[in-house]
Amino acid sequence: MKLSIIVPCFNEGEGLKEFHQALKKVLETVNTENEILYINDGSTDNTQAVLKEITASDPEAFYMTFSRNFGKEAAVYAGICNVTGEYTAVMDADMQDPPEMLVKMLEILKQGEYDCVAARREDRTGEPPVRSWFARKFYQVFNYISDIKIPDGSRDFRVMTRQMTEAVAAMAEANRFSKGIFEWVGFRTYYIPYENRNRQKGSTKWSFRKLFSYGVGGIIGFSEAPLSFVSWFGILMTAVAVVMLLFVIVRKLIFGDPVAGWASTICVIIFIGGLQLFCLGIIGQYVARIFTETKNRPHYIASESNLKDARMIR
Ligand code: UDP
Ligand code: MG
Repeated sequence: MKLSIIVPCFNEGEGLKEFHQALKKVLETVNTENEILYINDGSTDNTQAVLKEITASDPEAFYMTFSRNFGKEAAVYAGICNVTGEYTAVMDADMQDPPEMLVKMLEILKQGEYDCVAARREDRTGEPPVRSWFARKFYQVFNYISDIKIPDGSRDFRVMTRQMTEAVAAMAEANRFSKGIFEWVGFRTYYIPYENRNRQKGSTKWSFRKLFSYGVGGIIGFSEAPLSFVSWFGILMTAVAVVMLLFVIVRKLIFGDPVAGWASTICVIIFIGGLQLFCLGIIGQYVARIFTETKNRPHYIASESNLKDARMIR
């Protein structure tokens, strides 16, 4: 049985050796043939040197290095498109995804009842409260307006069958949101809850702003609800306008036409103008994504790899 493990790395040089050792220790206990594929996502630290060292001394370890930073989603996709194992695992390099969980994940997968076993954080200790609040709200909103449901705290950390890996590889969209993709492809997923861990070395690569726009992208990628919101809102405003028009006409017929209410008129104009721009913005978000999809650019470009038959561009 061959297990492929995809590890996206962006400036993880500091802790990568420890991660590899911890992973190998766990893998010794599960009795699989392994392929550990590190994707160096355009790191600017010593990640590449460390990876060369690791892969030189371990025939089970491989690397693929991007020509620049393409983002975690692209790195995971590069892994998905290049691994060959019966089982595929995706995990972070910072030890926030505990390697020892792989044992239980494989155990459950081997029973054959599930196609995917994923980790789900039960808590968010160690995270700034504002971020936790936004994250929770994100899952609530997402699950409310999208056809697919993502459990709160669900991680990218998971092991899946060949069949599911192929399905994820077939999802070739440019605006990638893995948590959504993993749910969209279907199959039976088992979630293992676990206590949140803090990053061991280095620092997070996600600023609040990046995370926010990633979340917006996720919603837009998996829901058309914001668009219907815009059209329903337009209909509602039109109805309000008709009622107001009738009111104004009747008032004129009964009381004549004294010029008054300039301030309130301006307020209404600004209010409606703002709403229009907001709705245009929502539509714009979709248009922007149509634009990136139609350009059909590669997801990643690799400059170097020690994998046999590596797909360097996809
Ligand atoms: N990562 C990546 N490319 C990026 C950003 C992150 O490959 O542009 C990798 C990173 O090296 C780590 C994983 O994605 O292995 C998760 O990143 P991080 O720990 O910074 O995210 P967090 O756990 O804070 O959400
Ligand atoms: Mg992390």
